[in-house]
Amino acid sequence: MVPLTFAEARARVLAEVRGTRKTPATEEAGLDRAAGRVLAEAVAADRDSPAVARSVRDGYAVRAADLPGELRIIGEVRAGERFTGTVGAGQAVEIMTGAPIPAGADAVVMVEHTRRVGERVHINRAAEPNQFINPKGCEAAAHEVVLEAGKRLDYSDVAMLAAFGRSRVKVYARPRVAIIATGDEIVEVDEAPKEFQIRNSNARSLEAQVARAGGEPQVLPVARDTVEHTREIVARGLEADLLLLSGGVSAGKYDVVEEVLAGLGAEFFFDRVLIQPGQPLVFGRAGQTFFFGLPGNPSSTMVTFEVFARAALELLAGQEEIVLPMPLARLTREFRHRAGLTRFLPARLSADGSEVTPVGWHGSGDVPALTRANAYLVADAGRPEYASGELIRVLMK
Ligand code: AMP
Ligand code: MG
Repeated sequence: MVPLTFAEARARVLAEVRGTRKTPATEEAGLDRAAGRVLAEAVAADRDSPAVARSVRDGYAVRAADLPGELRIIGEVRAGERFTGTVGAGQAVEIMTGAPIPAGADAVVMVEHTRRVGERVHINRAAEPNQFINPKGCEAAAHEVVLEAGKRLDYSDVAMLAAFGRSRVKVYARPRVAIIATGDEIVEVDEAPKEFQIRNSNARSLEAQVARAGGEPQVLPVARDTVEHTREIVARGLEADLLLLSGGVSAGKYDVVEEVLAGLGAEFFFDRVLIQPGQPLVFGRAGQTFFFGLPGNPSSTMVTFEVFARAALELLAGQEEIVLPMPLARLTREFRHRAGLTRFLPARLSADGSEVTPVGWHGSGDVPALTRANAYLVADAGRPEYASGELIRVLMK
């Protein structure tokens, strides 16, 4: 198969999963559990927002045509009450932020632009009609749909659901994601490894990444490097909504993952991507289940999950908008790499997010270096050199 560029591979993942995914099952969530879940229903405003025209400043409610001028203060109104009278010519009502605009008034003047003397207020500037007033319904009209199904709810969505009286919402069930580490050298975390053995860190990082991305991780036993054992474990993994494998996808004699998947009737969409870490990277579908064969080196597993598998998981979770933010930051030193591969390398982003510094590492197995990073710098495949001070893309960790 021809290797794909980073952008081609990502586009392929999005297109394949979007094209054939089924609508997930739904369940209910209270607002205390709603953030991070994907909404499964359209939500409408239960009333106008705001429900009455409101002041957005502390000051005076006035008739704009009266200004500049000196007005008589006929009362006050604050958030949580209604002024019962009407503002007539030459009159003003003292008003607090959030309070309903009294009848007759059509503008609010900030208190900083006024001078009060007893029961009169001097305002020596003109006012625009409607200034500092949020008209009734300007944010949302009653019965207007304010959230569509497929949105991953963030804290502002939760605030709006609360404001419109929705204490429970319908959300999609989390996709079940099977995780299989492969390799004869892999032992479990609380086993004592011999010096030629490695503890299973990939299943644990993937479990954490899947949970963070909104999936329900299920770690299966390590698949040994034989076709028979790997087939047995992979067959179990294919019962999930998404299957993630780590290791066993290179060209070595004991890399049996692709052979096993092919034997189970898998269709392969790509098996190599021009990125580092992570070149041998398999994406396909067997029956209803999409799978990724992620390369086994720990950083390769982590990075390829973030830039490919996470998007598939989000789509399977019912999410509509899929974004991978890669903002620009200024390099604090020059950076060179061999062109041809998009590279995701451990880096530290400055506190204000404007500057990025590569973290020294010993290649894709160097987990300690990765833990010192708070981001990846993303080096363009077509650009071998970046001078100090130039902008480069970063991916948050
Ligand atoms: P592979 O892709 O199977 O050739 O594995 C590449 C490298 O990643 C080897 O050095 C493995 O020891 C290491 N590796 C594979 N699987 C895991 C795992 N589950 N946890 C930690 N390291 C792993
Ligand atoms: Mg292996």
